[in-house]
Amino acid sequence: MNDVLLRTVRRVGTSGAPVDVHVVDGRVASAAPAGTLDPTSVDTDVLEAAGAWLAPGLVDHHTHFDQWALVRRRVDVAGCDSAETTAAVLAEVARTGVSDPVLVGHGYRDGLWPRPARRELLDGAAPDLPVVVISADLHAVWCNARALEHFSALVGRPLGAGDDGVLREQDAFDVTGALSRVPDEVLDGYVADAVEAAAARGVTRVVDLEMVFGLDRWRRRVHDGVDGLRVDSGVYPAELDAVIARGLRTGDVVDGTRGLVRMGPFKVITDGSLGTRTAANADGSGMLTWPFEDLVAVTRRAVDAGLVPAIHAIGDRANTLALDVFEAVGARGTIEHAQLVADGDFDRFARLGVAASVQPEHAMDDRDIADHYWAGRTERAFAFATLDRAGARLLLGSDAPVAPLDPWVSMAAAVGRDRDGRDPWHPAERLSALAAWRGSTDGRVGVSVGDVADLVLLEEDPLAVAVGSGSGSGSGSGSGSGSDALRSMRVLATAIAGRFTHRDV
Ligand SMILES: [Zn+2]
Repeated sequence: MNDVLLRTVRRVGTSGAPVDVHVVDGRVASAAPAGTLDPTSVDTDVLEAAGAWLAPGLVDHHTHFDQWALVRRRVDVAGCDSAETTAAVLAEVARTGVSDPVLVGHGYRDGLWPRPARRELLDGAAPDLPVVVISADLHAVWCNARALEHFSALVGRPLGAGDDGVLREQDAFDVTGALSRVPDEVLDGYVADAVEAAAARGVTRVVDLEMVFGLDRWRRRVHDGVDGLRVDSGVYPAELDAVIARGLRTGDVVDGTRGLVRMGPFKVITDGSLGTRTAANADGSGMLTWPFEDLVAVTRRAVDAGLVPAIHAIGDRANTLALDVFEAVGARGTIEHAQLVADGDFDRFARLGVAASVQPEHAMDDRDIADHYWAGRTERAFAFATLDRAGARLLLGSDAPVAPLDPWVSMAAAVGRDRDGRDPWHPAERLSALAAWRGSTDGRVGVSVGDVADLVLLEEDPLAVAVGSGSGSGSGSGSGSGSDALRSMRVLATAIAGRFTHRDV
């Protein structure tokens, strides 16, 4: 019934000789030289690929999907260098029509603006619509008059701002909190849009590490027709008992989701972050959020119940601790982030069977912060090549909404370690194109007969375009052309089990 003939594709990982590929009932049934396979029936869906590149579907191993669905609706104003340009950007969006009750901008940094924010600028941008702009560090929100009225009603007390229209600290947190509290049906609509956008970038599966256990939300969404992604939904300690009581084990397929939704990992956070300077480091800086014995106990409890641990560790002390936990429990799993790793710990990942679940774009966002706060240690920060050489299995992800849910962004950052025309950051740690690719495809390189037909069709060969930036030339000059080509890779089609979730050909 599900029967697709892909005509004249080239397969990533091969010489590129064109073939026809036949997909039947969700699997790759056959492949033969181009022009030799015919539709098996009048129902066969024939796609003329004209030499496009066929590859396995892409995976984002670390997302906070609901947060991403909310944040991606907000207008990005991070690039605006004044209050006036920020207001102009929002005015332009307001002119083209806003379907939501509030127009939300995100990411303003006013520290170097020539003139401060003023409420009337946003009043002028959209006099009849509440407009709010959230600062990059989330500690301030800049409102127009309608937004001040709107949010005063929502939080149940008058929010008074001066002429600048700016609310700070708790008032700001109350506003952003109110923005995140949207009714299920509204959020599901945002999620549906975000699922479509992910499929359009070639994503077929995400690991969702939303703080509130999402399995039942995802079941509802699939039931309502949001079926463009496979989702592994993780659980945190607060809801571990409930998950154990339900008998859910990592990898279990959830009934009523047509095989799309699975129980994900057990996620536990051991330290803070680089940006807030709460990452736990060997020099004593930062903070550990769990005593070692408690962490071992809760992890053992999860493992005994069939859950795979995903332990968040940013600083080098936290990474040592996380590896110690895996060693003590005798379990395999992932370390999420693995941003700063002690010299003696690189080998332990492979030895213990612990994968490094990394978000390469964070290295691009945080390179200057790392140079400052991790001075003298950055050769072991985001050390993708060293982890790879040490035999660690690397899994790539975005940590959306922290970085965009787009595996091409992650791969480009891993392979190039460059962005915005800057020189590569610690170019010796650029990951090979092949390792970045396998970290985004469940370890697969190409498409073979018998595979589940989670597929993408690409305009170019990702392993070929990536060369010239990464792939270990080690020159340090870094043209950036390879990573730019990855970042902007055109995805022509995406399919889950042979069913198209995106199709642009
Ligand atoms: Zn995260």
